[in-house]
Amino acid sequence: MSALAGNYKRKNLSFSKGKGSYLYTSSGKKYLDFIQGIAVNSLGHSNPALNKAIKIQSRKLWHLSNAFKIPEGERLAKRLTKRTFADSIIFQNSGAEATETAIKVARRYFYSIGKPNKNRIICIKNSFHGRTIAAIHASGSTKMTEGFGPKIPGFDHFKFGDHKKLKSLINKNTAAVMIETIMGEGGIKVIPNWCIKAIRNLCNRKGILLILDEVQCGIGRSGKFFAFEHARVKPDIVPIAKGIGGGFPIGAVLMTKKISKAMTPGTHGSTFGGNPLAMAVGNAVLDQINKNLLNNVNKMSKYFINKLNEMKIKYPEIIKEVRGVGLLIGLQLYNDQSKFIKKLMDNKLLTIRAAENVIRILPPLNVKKNEIDLALKIIDKVCKEIK
Ligand SMILES: *Cc1c(COP(=O)(O)O)cnc(C)c1O
Repeated sequence: MSALAGNYKRKNLSFSKGKGSYLYTSSGKKYLDFIQGIAVNSLGHSNPALNKAIKIQSRKLWHLSNAFKIPEGERLAKRLTKRTFADSIIFQNSGAEATETAIKVARRYFYSIGKPNKNRIICIKNSFHGRTIAAIHASGSTKMTEGFGPKIPGFDHFKFGDHKKLKSLINKNTAAVMIETIMGEGGIKVIPNWCIKAIRNLCNRKGILLILDEVQCGIGRSGKFFAFEHARVKPDIVPIAKGIGGGFPIGAVLMTKKISKAMTPGTHGSTFGGNPLAMAVGNAVLDQINKNLLNNVNKMSKYFINKLNEMKIKYPEIIKEVRGVGLLIGLQLYNDQSKFIKKLMDNKLLTIRAAENVIRILPPLNVKKNEIDLALKIIDKVCKEIK
């Protein structure tokens, strides 16, 4: 019996090695990994440049307290702000910490300008912002909050697409709207650009902040550095995590100068957040999220999504919809997707579920065309078998 707690339903499969888009079992079986740690290994497994960066930094300095200046973190923050709307950054270790910090930062901003009652956050019902106590209540999912004590106040919810409700929820106590630019766990639900724009305008008119959770869809995954760039808006606060570490646990919150002024010494902290080892890896990841890589994401995405749509026409009774942007792709089935995912796995293609019968397909950003062709061949085979 396992000494690990049973909070995951794990597959009876493990791996001893990874390289690029592939994973290998100890007996040498090769799997095409289109999960990549759930959009974490943005540059694939065992990326040589990341291996080199971690090796060099590990011989110099792993960790030290944020009581000291950390040049690697200064550099990563400077580079991230140069590329984006943000002026300053707080580093964390995970996505949930990043969204929690985003909530804290929004509230602290209004507190700092003498409006402490402006502290409520509006979120989409059944979204996903992580598993900490505040984040599960922000997500507004009974499945995630059940059995975990009293409801954390301060969050209001509207259903995806219910703009009337969203407007009606905003009152004098509202601090921010927090949404995922593309809902990942929720089934790769893309919020249309016009809608993101309208929410930005609404926030402006009401004098509240816009928090866009880019933990899953950010850092090149959508074909732009941030998914919100497709809508040409500027958010106020953006939590990131997954892709920025390339497999090393890093989270961060990006924000404008106006807001970061509220985060004076002692207002927030993290023992591990922003340590030299993590920051060296983050910088090495950022070195590779360049124009060439984003071009590859867009090219491969177009090819993959076109081919999947052809398959939808070929198997109209199985595939309901192809969703997604960039290499954040969802294949929505008419029926429960578990059997389909299992069959893909039996055929050595790894994918992962999301809500609404969606199969999530998350190749590394440097995926090659022949790897996509292999995935398509396996998906076609499974469609035939399931029919
Ligand atoms: C994964 C995810 C989180 C939580 O990240 P963890 O690192 O698991 O805490 C938060 N928001 C979104 C949109 C995510 O996809």
